[in-house]
Amino acid sequence: MGEIQASEYIIFTDMDGTLVDHDTYSYDAALPALELINKKNIPLIFCTSKTRAELEIYCHKLDICHPFISENGGAIFIPQDYFDFPYDHTKQIDNYNVIELGVGYEILESTLKELCTKIDCQVIGFGDMNVDEVCRDTGLDRECAALAKQRDYDEAFRIISPAPKDELLEQEIRKSGFNCTKGGRYYHIMGNNDKGKAVLMLTDLYRKKWPGVKTIGLGDSLNDLPMLMAVDIGILVQKPGGDYDPSITSPDIKRGMGIGPKGWNQELINILE
Ligand SMILES: [Mg+2]
Repeated sequence: MGEIQASEYIIFTDMDGTLVDHDTYSYDAALPALELINKKNIPLIFCTSKTRAELEIYCHKLDICHPFISENGGAIFIPQDYFDFPYDHTKQIDNYNVIELGVGYEILESTLKELCTKIDCQVIGFGDMNVDEVCRDTGLDRECAALAKQRDYDEAFRIISPAPKDELLEQEIRKSGFNCTKGGRYYHIMGNNDKGKAVLMLTDLYRKKWPGVKTIGLGDSLNDLPMLMAVDIGILVQKPGGDYDPSITSPDIKRGMGIGPKGWNQELINILE
């Protein structure tokens, strides 16, 4: 990809319910801002609970060659020639330097099962569902559902048992040294990682190149909160129906006008134009 061009901003974005519509997974409403970002050579960094395999499809479709953050901050994938200085990374896969921050999927799956048995809580996770069931549950097509199941650092699950088992399970997960958060559709169990830690780490790398670069973050749900707090300008977009996630109350986070990709588009145009 060669040398990256200097930019005044870096943009970190959630995908589901933010850049892409919660139900249709379309990003059409965001196309004007996407075009502007492309024209200004602003790095657009996906930071999502999606897997590497899912994000590679979006990088291809949107012609993006920047790093991305998968599975709620589980790992940062940086194209190998992207930064022209050395930095610590865990491993190399294909043409990426990978910084792993998460815990392996098998450990997360078995920990979740153990804790559910302990408190008698019924959940259904991606690991329990076949591709057809993930399709039905998410509205993704078969190909995308298969990519969403290729999880390395985060298990997504639904809680079947009635309240207050949800709160109890969250407590148990945290007591065991793991992290628990909630996206637009699912709960997530992961290691001691979150989107914010990954955003800060990647921001540090960019600032070695561009010391004054400003960071923007956009999200819609609780799992985005650490990311929105880690950037200079954090923007919360509206959920379907027009409400904001009630668990995000910080006055430092701007409430964007518009649902999902529509809000994403408008807020970025306001800043960048
Ligand atoms: Mg989301």
